[in-house]
Amino acid sequence: MPERMNVESFNLDHRAVAAPFVRVADVKRLPDGDVLTKYDVRFCQPNREHLEMTAVHSIEHSFAECVRNHSDAVIDFGPMGCQTGFYLIMVGEPDVPATCELVERTLRDVLALTEVPAANEIQCGWGAHHSLDAARAAVSEMLAHRDEWEQVMA
Ligand SMILES: [Zn+2]
Repeated sequence: MPERMNVESFNLDHRAVAAPFVRVADVKRLPDGDVLTKYDVRFCQPNREHLEMTAVHSIEHSFAECVRNHSDAVIDFGPMGCQTGFYLIMVGEPDVPATCELVERTLRDVLALTEVPAANEIQCGWGAHHSLDAARAAVSEMLAHRDEWEQVMA
């Protein structure tokens, strides 16, 4: 492995993981004592598979909107550039089982959607660049492996 780097995930050996999984990528203690936890919500096995970009974009929109129906602790949900997963940033201490439950509930909401939220030129920077079908296929696959999410390493 290269020398220690600033970004937590750059110090993760991506050959050694077994996707899908949900893991704690970072814990940030703020000056006033608040804690933020960054979760790696990984859909695809790194360097072997990836999501199509329209699926990434539609999952991003759908998850970001639906998750806030279940939690007030969500700071952000954003895609990884490698198209293999997403980062979910939450207020609070790490709690992987509870976060997996939140992710599961939200993904079940996404499966039930009939359109991608805010997929238009007013609310998005590339409103035509979406696929609900591709998003749902990826979400179904992720949910099919729900019992494996807490096992990160192969
Ligand atoms: Zn967008």
